[in-house]
Amino acid sequence: MNKKYLHLFFDLDRTLWDFDKSAYQTFCDMYENHGLSQKNIPDVDVFFKTYNQVNELLWDQYRAGTLTKEILRDLRFQQTLMKFGVDNAKLAERLSDYYLYHSPRNVHLFPQASEVLAVLQKEYQLHMITNGFEEVQHIKLSTSGLGKYFETIVTSEEAGVKKPDPKIFHFALNKAGASAADSLMIGDDLEVDVLGAKAVGIDQVYFNPEKAKHNSQPTYEIVALIELTTMLSN
Ligand SMILES: [Mg+2]
Repeated sequence: MNKKYLHLFFDLDRTLWDFDKSAYQTFCDMYENHGLSQKNIPDVDVFFKTYNQVNELLWDQYRAGTLTKEILRDLRFQQTLMKFGVDNAKLAERLSDYYLYHSPRNVHLFPQASEVLAVLQKEYQLHMITNGFEEVQHIKLSTSGLGKYFETIVTSEEAGVKKPDPKIFHFALNKAGASAADSLMIGDDLEVDVLGAKAVGIDQVYFNPEKAKHNSQPTYEIVALIELTTMLSN
């Protein structure tokens, strides 16, 4: 391997950026400095878990296009607080602002993310396709120092559609000046990244650090990013 590929397309959240760690850290700080223990919210873990359940349901609607990001941002903290009997839109707004500001600045990357990108950058053109919000993703790329490795970055906001919609992959290929045949997509989400790329003829690497069981057949599967360097070294 691997003369076949010229262009590597990476997902960001939960592939390079350890989204869950950085969100959890932000929640710990937020729980402390907004006095949430006095608000009938027993501990940060319960609060975080509840938020994740609420957020996931709302994200499904956002992905389906039935919810705007502004409404999503308003609702997720409001609904989380309501689960604890706290009806306080002002507080929800403060938590939302706090989270949006701090979470992309709480840098947690998967092991060796920067090192692997630095190695791969020497032999491949690196690109990004992410479903995250435009401004948030660019802050993450700058606070983490990962931005410098990527020649093109496509967010779903820019493309007008989200992965796994084929349009975003075509948009990204076009922007990169790449063809599906010489490209490889690396991501943690089977439906969004792997099947999305497969549908447009791009080979895929399924990043599966939790070793989740599944029935899909990605082109490759890895549990650690470092495997990319051996897999893709010429
Ligand atoms: Mg992801």
